[in-house]
Amino acid sequence: MKVLIADDSAPSRAMLKGSLSRWGYEVIIATNGAEAWEVLAQPDPPAMAILDWVMPEMTGPEVCRKVREKRREPYTYILLLTSKHTKEEIVEGMDAGADDYVVKPFDQHELQVRLRAGKRIVDLQIELLQAREELRERANKDLLTMLPNRSAIGRNLEQEISRCHRERRTVGVILLDLDHFKRINDTYGHFAGDAVLRETASRLRGNMRDYDEVGRYGGEEFLVVLPNCDMEQAANQAERMRHRLHATPMIVDGIEIPVSASFGVTVSDGSERGPDLFVRVADEALYRAKANGRNQVVKLTLEASSLCSPIS
Ligand code: GH3
Ligand code: MG
Ligand code: MG
Repeated sequence: MKVLIADDSAPSRAMLKGSLSRWGYEVIIATNGAEAWEVLAQPDPPAMAILDWVMPEMTGPEVCRKVREKRREPYTYILLLTSKHTKEEIVEGMDAGADDYVVKPFDQHELQVRLRAGKRIVDLQIELLQAREELRERANKDLLTMLPNRSAIGRNLEQEISRCHRERRTVGVILLDLDHFKRINDTYGHFAGDAVLRETASRLRGNMRDYDEVGRYGGEEFLVVLPNCDMEQAANQAERMRHRLHATPMIVDGIEIPVSASFGVTVSDGSERGPDLFVRVADEALYRAKANGRNQVVKLTLEASSLCSPIS
């Protein structure tokens, strides 16, 4: 674990550095308060800091205050180390945001156990952050295909629509649905069906630019978001995906399973209208592709869709 030592006295720094290195910490040195703040404000800062109170440029409590104002994760555990020792001073230091306080001249063993107590808190917090990160990832992912799930791809579309609107560009939207997938389940079994969904995800993903995104929108339905794309480019992309899914059968447990999908394509119209509207237009196009005989791409603009037709 990295620990920052900030002290303006060279002998004091050398002694602390010797002890902390012996106890297994990786030591980073600052010789005044401003330097300490610089180290703590950088990305991936030390998890713990031992700050002297009186230092040039910025005092220990001032550094504490700045760190707490920033309220960054993960937490920085701060120990003030100083010859100031009245009750008022201790209160002032802790009030500035310090977690603990050791009075100079300090007892080596006391400092060692106080640092260990700080490390326990830091370790606990890292575990909590990791667990939260895992939960967040799981909440956004479809666990069968490992693609973004419906709500995640919906948010992605919403963000891209408002970003492209600012840049006066349009977003391509493709909704695709595997053809007669129920038959695949019925013929080859549900596990084979799952494998087909995974392979579909991988073929779709392998066929996109870095900034395009595909998510699992429903059972055997996928939504593709293509930033900075017009209708023709989106339709061409859909056609490439259609071909890629259909050209070679999928092989599951040594058995060849032919797969095809139908595609509905639209583009956001450059206004800041919400994502649901464009998914509905793409869905209407998809419905037409199914009705026309499946395994094909159908384009549809918002204006030409039933969503815009006058109510008669
Ligand atoms: P169409 O060409 O009109 O889309 O016909 P379809 O059979 O693909 O469509 P339908 O909506 O009738 O059936 C979809 C099937 O997808 C039904 C459902 O059991 C299956 N399905 C949905 N999610 C999963 C899944 O996670 N795994 C498997 N194996 N099947 C799934
Ligand atoms: Mg289907
Ligand atoms: Mg379906």
